Amino acid sequence: MATDPDCLFCSIAAGSMGVEFVYADADVVAFRDIAPKAPVHLLVIPRQHFRDVRELAGDPAAGAALLAGVAAVAEQERLPYFTTVFNTGAESGQSVFHVHAHLLSGSGQIWAHG
Ligand code: IMP
Repeated sequence: MATDPDCLFCSIAAGSMGVEFVYADADVVAFRDIAPKAPVHLLVIPRQHFRDVRELAGDPAAGAALLAGVAAVAEQERLPYFTTVFNTGAESGQSVFHVHAHLLSGSGQIWAHG
């Protein structure tokens, strides 16, 4: 499994940062965002290092596992609804270059188009 020794989220996934996992399975871990933007703000990440969703798309099994992890976290946390965000590229606000799903809930509609 590819990991990056210089990546914060690889270190978190490896358990070496002492971050408490809300959820963990063979492929993904989830933990609380350090600067929450909603009453529930979790980050769901693959254990393997992928820079962003573009890179993740090159490994469909890993992509499916990450989405399954999002659904599993939502079920475990009994979230009746949630918003999922993947920032991609620094201009979008991506600040950690290890793909992660922001899983937000608890304050109604968080994002709307149109
Ligand atoms: P991005 O801006 O989409 O890359 O999201 C990165 C997220 O990681 C931000 O919401 C940060 O608050 C969060 N974050 C950064 N470092 C940590 C940490 O050590 N623990 C938990 N969340 C973190």
